[in-house]
Amino acid sequence: MSFATATENQLGEGTSKLRANCSGIVALSARLESWMTEALSNTPTEIVQSIEQFGSPLNVIATAPLVRNLRQLESVAAERDLPFKVFFARKSNKCLAFVDAAHQAGGGVDVASEQECRQALDRGVPGPDIICTAAIKTKALVELCVANQVTIAIDNRDELQRVREIAAASKATAEIAIRISGFVHDGEKLHSRFGFDVDEVQDLASSTLRSIDRKEVRVIGLHFHLDGYCSKQRVSAIRQCLPLVDHFRSVGLDVRFVDIGGGLPMSYLESEQQWNRFWREHRDALQSKRTELTYRNHGLGFLPVDGEVHGKRNTYPYWQNPVRAQWLQHVLDDSACAEQKADLEPNVPTIADALRDRSLQLRCEPGRSLLDGCGMTLARVEFVKQHHSGDHFVGVAMNRTQCRTGSDDYLVDPVVIRGQENDDQTQIEGYLVGAYCTESELISLRKLRFPNGIAAGDVIAIPNTAGYFMHFLESRSHQFPLAKNVLAENNSPLTWRLDEIDSEHAEK
Ligand SMILES: *Cc1c(COP(=O)(O)O)cnc(C)c1O
Repeated sequence: MSFATATENQLGEGTSKLRANCSGIVALSARLESWMTEALSNTPTEIVQSIEQFGSPLNVIATAPLVRNLRQLESVAAERDLPFKVFFARKSNKCLAFVDAAHQAGGGVDVASEQECRQALDRGVPGPDIICTAAIKTKALVELCVANQVTIAIDNRDELQRVREIAAASKATAEIAIRISGFVHDGEKLHSRFGFDVDEVQDLASSTLRSIDRKEVRVIGLHFHLDGYCSKQRVSAIRQCLPLVDHFRSVGLDVRFVDIGGGLPMSYLESEQQWNRFWREHRDALQSKRTELTYRNHGLGFLPVDGEVHGKRNTYPYWQNPVRAQWLQHVLDDSACAEQKADLEPNVPTIADALRDRSLQLRCEPGRSLLDGCGMTLARVEFVKQHHSGDHFVGVAMNRTQCRTGSDDYLVDPVVIRGQENDDQTQIEGYLVGAYCTESELISLRKLRFPNGIAAGDVIAIPNTAGYFMHFLESRSHQFPLAKNVLAENNSPLTWRLDEIDSEHAEK
């Protein structure tokens, strides 16, 4: 047996041991990175001590998976000889270690606020390697971008005017990309509140953009960011951008890149079967055909009406296929024209061909999928009590905004580390409840099973939370301090150190 196999087997055993203490009533087993398994396999005392030191909850992050994920995307482009650059969408996690890692790996950064932009510049990311896609661009933000040659994705005419004025006043050149939306896909217009409608962009180029003083503003790219994760929609959008690139160039605008935004999919779960089974059984539960899987039979977007289930899933698709690199491959290998199929007709140019033939650079701005495998959230169990319904409530020292996005729930089984001193072995079932004083304050809506019990002093670990779940909605209600963020550079023994977002930019 080779050394590598032995290590993998040990990790596999470690993983199933870790999973043994907790699962959903219908299991949704997390994909665990080896660094997570390694960190969680330390003695419970060490883990508990780290939480004592930094507070509960504790966000633990690692940057190596980000670099791996980025390289996977790059190799897809390289195989097609396509100039390519990944911009890490910073709003998905505030830790500065990710900015450094993306920059050191040759990537850029997509920023959504003045603070995000300033911090990226302070870390040494050159302005041209930053794109600002902030939904609201204040004067201060635009001034910062113009002064540092940060590319600005322009959303509307007022914004364009503001950029022109600031560039003129500061005698600098603003580099901009035009954000486009309203692409037609499958005969329907894709809705967005962002950007210029695809039908007005040609006019914008021929009139306003053409007449702008090139010393003030230089148009260097086209940009879009679509909702959802559908690769075919990206194909439609790129196809509709290609004639626009040609038009921009014909009126003298030097478009060098097409930026397809983020929304590259990822999977949190090991098994498609578990994912499908969860939803099948959840629908049954909503129709009272089985006991509930969620708190008070919460629908997660579905609603039982007269014996039928209506609505649609209001959570991230935690299991998906294809993801990341393979998904990008599907986009790039599709036909560049809607009428021809690249896989059936060998001489039809693909999207990759069409971009390369125009000497365009392809850019993308993944947030979540770049952070796949980059973090987990640890929290200490403070109490366990039994409700009159028979279910147990497990009180943890965290609140729900510390593991939430806009959707209903995080559908991934937590891992439970049993505190050393407790040897309670009785199976219980119930819910994780948090620190905000409302009836709806659950860390997860899913009913969980603890085959070996759970007790105060144990630790729950929520895997793979780096993308959005840690910071996107975190709040300081009740005056709780924000969670600390530590880098898991050394996991055995555990020597974690604070990310500099906490040491440099901590609220005073
Ligand atoms: C949020 C956002 C992204 C990142 O999206 P992910 O789904 O995290 O990949 C990229 N670009 C823009 C403009 C965004 O608003």
